[in-house]
Parts: sequence; C-alpha cells; structure tokens
Amino acid sequence: MKHVLIIGAGFAGLACAKALANKKKFTVTVIDRTNHHLFQPLLYQVASASLTAPDIAQSIRQILCKAKNITVLMDEIIAIDPAARHATGRSGTVFDFDHLVLASGARTGYFGNDHWAAHSLCLKSLADAQDIRRRILTCLEKAEMTKDAAECKRLMTIAIVGGGPTGVELAGSFADLTHRSLQSNYRNIDTARLSIILIEGSDRILEAYSSEQSQYAKSRLESLGVVVMVNTRVTEVTAGKLHLKSGEILEAESIIWAAGVEASPLAAQISAASDRSGRITPLPDLSVPGFPSVFVAGDLVNMRDSEDQVVPGIAPAAMQMGDHIGRLLLEEARLETTSFADRKTTLRANFRYHDKGFMAIIGKNHAVVKSGKTELQGFVAWLMWLFIHILFLVGFRNKLAVLLGWAFAYIKDNPSARVIINPPNPQSGP
Ligand SMILES: Cc1cc2nc3c(=O)[nH]c(=O)nc-3n(C[C@H](O)[C@H](O)[C@H](O)COP(=O)(O)OP(=O)(O)OC[C@H]3O[C@@H](n4cnc5c(N)ncnc54)[C@H](O)[C@@H]3O)c2cc1C
Repeated sequence: MKHVLIIGAGFAGLACAKALANKKKFTVTVIDRTNHHLFQPLLYQVASASLTAPDIAQSIRQILCKAKNITVLMDEIIAIDPAARHATGRSGTVFDFDHLVLASGARTGYFGNDHWAAHSLCLKSLADAQDIRRRILTCLEKAEMTKDAAECKRLMTIAIVGGGPTGVELAGSFADLTHRSLQSNYRNIDTARLSIILIEGSDRILEAYSSEQSQYAKSRLESLGVVVMVNTRVTEVTAGKLHLKSGEILEAESIIWAAGVEASPLAAQISAASDRSGRITPLPDLSVPGFPSVFVAGDLVNMRDSEDQVVPGIAPAAMQMGDHIGRLLLEEARLETTSFADRKTTLRANFRYHDKGFMAIIGKNHAVVKSGKTELQGFVAWLMWLFIHILFLVGFRNKLAVLLGWAFAYIKDNPSARVIINPPNPQSGP
C-alpha cells in the first residue's frame, strides 16, 4: 500500500483524490485548511449578494465519504520536506507520505506591495466574498443616513483594480445589484448613482480574450454605468484612496483588489524553478525535478503541456492536472514501478491540457466565451456560462438548490442574500 498525501481539496486536489478513490493499492489523506471545497467561479455572486456561502461550497468529507481508502483532515500545512517525505501541519501533526500532491492553489498577489492588502478587499475565499458584501451593503446604509454630500459620494464609490474576469464580473454584478435590484429599497439615496470604477493597467480589459471581445465587454460595462479606465496604473493604496500614476487620487470607501495572484507560499518550500508569482514549473509529467514522488497541480503550476500549449490558471486545467496525477499513480502501481526513467516510457505520462475554453459574465444576460478559434458573446454566451457553471457545481442537491435560487432571483431581479453578517460598530468605518 502506498500512502498519497494530497494538500488542498480545490479542483486539482479533489480530482486527484477521486481518481484514486477505492483503489486497492493506495491509502490517501486529503488535507485542507478549510472543511469545504469552494467553487471559486461563483464567488463574485456571493460578494454581490446573489448567492449565499453554502450555495457554492460543499463539505470535503461529504464529497469523498464513499471512498473508503481516503481520510479527510482539516489542518493547515506549514512545512514540507520532500526529501524526508513528510509535511507538518499547524496542529503540529507530521504527515508521512510515499507520494505528495501539492495542490494548495494561489492567493491574492499585490506585486510586492503587501501593505496594500490592509486598505483593500480581495476575492479568493468565502470570507473575502462576505467581507465585500458587508462593505458594500454597509456603505449604502451609511450613505442613506449621512447629510454630508462628499461623504455620501465616497461611500457610494466602488473602485475595482484589475480588468481580468474577476474585476469584470464584479463590476457587472454590482451594476446589476445597485442600478436595478436595490433601487426601490432606499429613500434618501439613489443606488443607481453608485459609482463603479474599473481600473486596468494595460490598454484593454479581459486581455486573454480577443480585442473584439474586450471591446464588447468594455462597451457592455459602460452601458451598465461602469466607468472603465484602461492604461491606468495604481502606484499606492492608502485608506479609502487609490493613488494613480497620473498623480490623480481616487477616493472610494470600497477598494477591491483583483489585479494579481501568486502561488500558495507552500510552493516556495519545494526547491524547484518558479516564475515571478512563485508558480512552479514541473516536469512534463507534473512531478518536481529531482523528486519523482512529489507532484504539483492547479494554480501553483506554470507550464506548457506536451503540445506546447500554455496551461491556464482555471478550474478545468486544475481538474485535468489532478486527474492526470491520479491516473499516473495508478498506472505505475499496475506496472509496479516508481522510477522516473520507467515513467518516461509509460504511456500518457506527460500531461496534455484539453482546452475547453473560458468565459466571463458581464452583468445579467451577457457574457463572452472563447474556446479555441470559437468566440461567442451576448445572450447565447451567457446561457452557456450559466449551464456550464451550474453543471460544474459539486453534488446534485447543491446544483439543484443553486439553480432554483438563482432562477428565482433572476426572474424577480431580487437577490436574496442581502443580509449583513456581523455588522460593524456604528461609530467605526464600514
Ligand atoms: C474570483 C474567482 C473567479 C474565478 N472564476 C473562474 C471561472 O469563471 N472559470 C474558471 O475556470 N476558473 C475560475 N477561477 C480560477 C479557478 O477557481 C482556479 O483556477 C482553481 O480554483 C484552481 O484550483 P486549485 O485546485 O489549484 O486551487 P484551489 O481551488 O484554490 O484550491 C486550493 C485548496 O488548497 C487549500 N489550501 C491552501 N493552502 C493550504 C495549506 N497550507 N494547507 C492546507 N490546505 C491549503 C485551500 O483551502 C483550497 O481548498 C476563478 C478564481 C477566482 C478567485
């Protein structure tokens, strides 16, 4: 029996665990610092009050409960020793392994300006999404009460830094929320006057898409009332203020940082070549050079696959990598080999990414989809987005509940998750 330790039950870690489920030659331990698998593509819907946290998260234990050879543990791994083949959790527990699958994902990156985190919100976890929702809803409550016009303007400004899919999706859904759904809820303020500013450093938003699709997304956001600023660099973030390279200072009570990600800090514990974001470049089979029993998968990987395609940091790529490692281990167990030299000759040892495309939603009814040479935009793209994302949700009951809840909110234009959890002290800021 070989013991496989999987760190992280995100898309990559779970796919690997599922590939090894109930396989006789393996015992598997899945460790995550949370007790849930999170469907990050829908985090922005929690942030914009359309979905609640349990709608997009499911117990890891529950997902893997039928796999008798898999143990699920909640702990945060703080150290890895690939040579000694063990990892240590914050609890002090030491976990030995025969094979390690490091799939701890990525976190928000500030391009070396980590102090900006103190003055901005980000979107990576459920707690982040709930913080954003709390901030926006609290700002509206405060704006409804204040008599000071300048204060009201500051409270009613949301600045989002980063014109990638996360920034675009957030901007579109805030526009939907405040310009349509909430309009009848307040007496002293007009939520349609809430200012949403999307700031992008390069010359276009959604850079991974074609320039036509970027332009479509920009026009669409502008028609929703979002101010899109391209070629605009942020040089400093202080409390309630964004300092731009042009010298301009933008005041906004809600600043959301969606401009960068970097690999989980655990990646640095494995001595392997990495890029500026700390992402590891593995061998073509996803193992780490010098450690044939240590594999990496998901967002902390930077590689080109066996067909020289760049493997993107998206959920399908992470799932494919996790599944590949699981199948490779099974194949090795069948052939009773663990040597890297043998692996080179093993069929399908090298990872190949199957591009299923990517998509971003731009407010209600509109999306862009890019899959190979196929490009779609508008309502059809939005329908595709809707179905694919619902179908990817883990667990049938979850899918059905989310679908019904979403459909209801969609028809009524009435997102149901507008509750401020843990309201701030009225004397302090939002
Ligand atoms: C806001 C947002 C929107 C997105 N939208 C899309 C989209 O529309 N389509 C798409 O395809 N992709 C999207 N993505 C990207 C996609 O979510 C990621 O590519 C995918 O989650 C990567 O999977 P992963 O398994 O590598 O990491 P993750 O899914 O991030 O999982 C990592 C896991 O590791 C755990 N972990 C981390 N550190 C430790 C530790 N030290 N000890 C123990 N456990 C640890 C975490 O708790 C987590 O469960 C989006 C991401 C974000 C943040």
